[in-house]
Amino acid sequence: MSTESSLRADIVEIGRRMYARGYTASNDGNISVRLDANRLLMTPKSVCKGFMTPDMMCITDLEGRKLQGDRDPSSETLMHLEVYRQRPDINAVVHAHPPTATGFAVAGIPLDKAVLAEVLTTLGSVPIAEYATPSTSELPEAVRKYIKAHDGMLLANHGALTVGADLFGAYYKMETIEHFAKISLVARTLGRENVLSREEVTRLQGLRGTYGIKAPAPICADPGGVAESALGPGPGGAEAGRDDATCQVVRAPTGGGQRLVLELTRGGGASGAAAGEEGEIRLTYRELSALIEDAIRSLR
Ligand SMILES: [Zn+2]
Repeated sequence: MSTESSLRADIVEIGRRMYARGYTASNDGNISVRLDANRLLMTPKSVCKGFMTPDMMCITDLEGRKLQGDRDPSSETLMHLEVYRQRPDINAVVHAHPPTATGFAVAGIPLDKAVLAEVLTTLGSVPIAEYATPSTSELPEAVRKYIKAHDGMLLANHGALTVGADLFGAYYKMETIEHFAKISLVARTLGRENVLSREEVTRLQGLRGTYGIKAPAPICADPGGVAESALGPGPGGAEAGRDDATCQVVRAPTGGGQRLVLELTRGGGASGAAAGEEGEIRLTYRELSALIEDAIRSLR
C-alpha cells in the first residue's frame, strides 16, 4: 500500500511529465488518487501541473468536501468524484488536454478503429463523451455514459480522461491515447489505413485473459448495430442514446480470412482502390497530343 507521501510525490511527477509532454498548458489538467475508502488526494485548483510541490495537494472526502490543504481542490472535482462512484475498481484519475487526441475530440472523431493491437488489448476503444461545460455538473453526466465500460475517453471539444488501478496506470493510458491519436493522424494524412479485421479483434480480445489485462468491458459483439446506435447520427456520438455503454465499440470490418483490410482515408473513403486515385487523370496518347496542340495554338 502506498503511503500518502509517496502518492503526493507521484502526483508531482505525473504533473511534471504531462506539462513537459505538452498534455497541459498553463493551469490545465488535474490528477487524483484514493488515499483510503473515504478520502481522495488531488491536485489543487489554478496551479501549473509542471511546477507542483507535494505540500500543494488537497485531501477531500468522497463528496468533494475539503478535509485538508491550504488550496482549494481541482475545478473538475465533480468529474473525479463521479468516476470513483461509478468505478470502485479504480484508484486514480488523470485529466489533460493532449493536443492530438484533443484534436480528434474537436473533430468529433472517436479513436475506435481497430488499428493497433496493443491498444485493442489494453484500452479497447476510446469514445467521445458529449460536450459539457467544463467544471459544471454537466461534465460528470457526460462521462457517466462511458466510464463503466472504458478506461479512457475523449471529452468533446475539451480533452481526455483516463483511469487506472494506480496513478501511473492512469497516466500511462493518457500517454497511450495521445500516441494512438498521433499514429492515427499520420496514417490518415498518408491517405490509407490497414484496419484489423473483426476476426483478429476477437483473437486479440482473447489475449486479454492470457495476459491478465483487466478491461472494464468486452468489445461489443455486434459492431454494426451497436456502432450505429452508440455513435449516433451526430458527430462523435453527440446524438447517441441515453443508455450507458456496457461494451466497447470497435470498428473492424469482416476480413474474409484476411487479418488486415485496406481502408482509404483520403479521396473518397473506403469505396475501392480507384477512390484513392481520385484526382488522377488518365489520357490516351492521342488525347494528350490533342491537348498539347490546343495549348500551343492558343499561345500563338
Ligand atoms: Zn480540462
